[in-house]
Amino acid sequence: MSSAKEEKSFQNTTSYTLYGLTFGLAFPVIATLFDINIQGLSLSLDSVVIVQSGNPLHWIIDTAPFFLGSLSALAGYRKDQTDHLNRGLERMVAERTDRLEKKNELLKSEIENRKKTEKALVEAKEQAEAGARAKTQFLSTMSHEIRTPLNAVIGMSGLLTDTELNNEQHDFVNTINKSGENLLGIINNILDYAKIESGKLDLEEVEFSVAFLIEDVLDLVSATEADKNIELLYRIDENVPDYVKGDSTRVQQILVNLVRNAIKFTEEGEVVIFVQSKKMEGGNIELMFEVKDTGIGIPKEKQKKLFQSFSQVDASTTRKFGGTGLGLAICKRLVELMNGEISVKSEEGVGSSFIFNLKAKGSTRKLGLRNPEHLKGRSIFILDDNDTNLFILKAQCEKAGMNVKTYQSPMEVLNSVEELKKFDIGILDMHMPDRNGVQVAEAIREKFSKMELPLVLLSSIMDLGSVEERKKFNLYLTKPIKQTHLHHNLERVFGDVEGILRSRDKEDLKKLDLGKKLKILLAEDNAINQKVASKMLERLDQSCDVAGNGIEAVQMCRLINYDLVLMDMEMPEMDGIEATKMLNKIQDDLGKLPVIIAMTANAMEEDKKKCLEAGMHDFLPKPVKLEAMHEVLKKWFKE
Ligand code: ADP
Repeated sequence: MSSAKEEKSFQNTTSYTLYGLTFGLAFPVIATLFDINIQGLSLSLDSVVIVQSGNPLHWIIDTAPFFLGSLSALAGYRKDQTDHLNRGLERMVAERTDRLEKKNELLKSEIENRKKTEKALVEAKEQAEAGARAKTQFLSTMSHEIRTPLNAVIGMSGLLTDTELNNEQHDFVNTINKSGENLLGIINNILDYAKIESGKLDLEEVEFSVAFLIEDVLDLVSATEADKNIELLYRIDENVPDYVKGDSTRVQQILVNLVRNAIKFTEEGEVVIFVQSKKMEGGNIELMFEVKDTGIGIPKEKQKKLFQSFSQVDASTTRKFGGTGLGLAICKRLVELMNGEISVKSEEGVGSSFIFNLKAKGSTRKLGLRNPEHLKGRSIFILDDNDTNLFILKAQCEKAGMNVKTYQSPMEVLNSVEELKKFDIGILDMHMPDRNGVQVAEAIREKFSKMELPLVLLSSIMDLGSVEERKKFNLYLTKPIKQTHLHHNLERVFGDVEGILRSRDKEDLKKLDLGKKLKILLAEDNAINQKVASKMLERLDQSCDVAGNGIEAVQMCRLINYDLVLMDMEMPEMDGIEATKMLNKIQDDLGKLPVIIAMTANAMEEDKKKCLEAGMHDFLPKPVKLEAMHEVLKKWFKE
């Protein structure tokens, strides 16, 4: 199209020039013809020249068209040129506009695409979040549903073990109880794992004592797992501060996991927890924990995979020991949440050592220990064949300012019984190779009475000896020995002997003496759970009334001044939360608000919070254990 335009403009220019020339040449001729009487129409160039030069004005007039023609030709040419340029420009502008428009369209569709993707992403995110929420909700509901019957299985079988059974029946019941506990462990693990995976796990920051934490860990594992021939020990380094700030529950969970594993995979020897610490910048503390066992160990090539989810060293492990292979994966994630690392050192047939560190905040608070003032300066001897145990016991006694002499073999003691009179007290380990603690005590008792030389028996729960045998001792302690516990109990022995402290050990578990009978209301809808809980209370020398739902519970509280309400969370008609709120509201009518303790299978932290927010005083997780019930009653009602 553009070349056709150009051709046309070229033609125009040529024709302008031609017109100019034609008029320029033709006009003088025509003018001359008019001038010399148009006779005969004959004309020669000469005559034209003559006529034109005869009068200069003529010449000017006659040649003017020629010049005008030429000028117009020139103007025409210029115009053509400008037109040509203009058209070029127009073309360029059109092309550019064209291109811009196309680009615009592209951009528009791209923006639209992006918007669509963005929307899809938001939707996907919402869906995923809803999915995660649903998953956690599902797990929490499911775990609740499973825990409730498990509560009955564990509680009832636990009670059954203490009734009269033959050996075989005892075994059966024990297996039921153990399996229940195992199942509970697995459910807890899965629930935890899901929580960590969905990012729902918030870390708490509380001030806690490292020593108490370790002691709690040992309490938790020793109650169920100390029926093995292994020593369960711990050692906290001197420089570890008394208190630090961090998520004690999670630290405890990691340790319980590691210690349980250590016990599980160790047939004989010892399991030891070591704690060390390092000061860091800004008053922070790095805590280092090690859980070391003398168990079967882990092959090198398997060590790397240990911390992955659902990984066990070999399939036969699952068959033999149970477990889900989630424990260490959970530990690793928890440690990482606390800015730490976990690793393993292990040699097959020798043992394993799991080490982790974590960051905690410092605290200047000191252990307000019941100052073991009655121990200072006293002499004690300790007989134990286990080096580590001896070392730890010695350190614990020295911490209380005692003078310590250690013996490693019963014969050393038996050969010099007379010399023992220089001691104020002695600790004898029960389990030793040639003579046990009871036998050594028998020999000592021939020379010294309980008042003259108090003796403490140290044993594992399964190794307690008979009631008759224990009579030789002023006190018996089960391992693992906890420092505060040891100090407190040694003091009590001196108290008994010397009348310093209030006398008699009445804290014997399963025989709780609160000095008074409590008025207790049990609000629980499930008949089996009602039975489990009331049986437990019976064990603790207490009895209870029962309400089947929240409404009943509130009504009964109006009638009777209860000291304690054990409140199930989920009940028909009115749940525990509602009932608690109600009781708080009508507090004035009641005269006094009973202590309300939630009993629930919902183990989530939020549930706990909900209970406390509603006005409950404490929280007992289901399945409720006798020890836990004992602890709670002691906490709220002792003195
Ligand atoms: P599980 O719940 O199955 O015990 P863990 O993640 O806690 O899962 O442990 C995974 C595997 O690691 C165990 O099955 C066992 O094979 C191995 N393991 C863990 N701790 C020890 C240990 N102290 N000694 C030997 N093997 C261990």
